[in-house]
Amino acid sequence: MARPIELIPLLCLNCATRLPANPDEAAWVCPQCGEGQRLDEREGLARLEVHYSSGIPLNQPGKPYWVVDGQARFQRKTYSGSQSAEAEKFWGDSRRFFIPAYTLPLETLLKVGSAFVSHPPTLEAGPPAPFEAVTLSLEDVTAIAQFIAMAIEADRPDKLKELQVNLQLGDPVLWILP
Ligand SMILES: [Zn+2]
Repeated sequence: MARPIELIPLLCLNCATRLPANPDEAAWVCPQCGEGQRLDEREGLARLEVHYSSGIPLNQPGKPYWVVDGQARFQRKTYSGSQSAEAEKFWGDSRRFFIPAYTLPLETLLKVGSAFVSHPPTLEAGPPAPFEAVTLSLEDVTAIAQFIAMAIEADRPDKLKELQVNLQLGDPVLWILP
């Protein structure tokens, strides 16, 4: 006989309060003590740094983003034209990625993520605020950052034949932005 799936309640690592966790979510802030936590694929519940922007309006929940610095190097082969120098200049020593952690269609997510690489918002810390559910797990950050880097490079006005990216990322933290 098939058994119903049993959901194990997640308890705050800090104060053992039950976290308001839905099955499709990946990170939470404890409603009792405010400790940030995420579900790690291997280790279970793990502590997570959560920062809040000072720009979140009072009457609107903030939006969670994984923020991570990355070094990107590309190998591009083109049919004609070459934007390799522009690419190198754009990526420089490192760039900051802001990866939407709330639910978005992939296409929109790439658009938002690409725009933030070109125009990163200033990060100024403010008080804790409510925010939309975190549905993109930290484990997915590398793949999405690669998608974003490729999307930016594919947009250059040369005729791309082949594109490879080598992306080195730091440790992502969660920021809640307006
Ligand atoms: Zn707690």
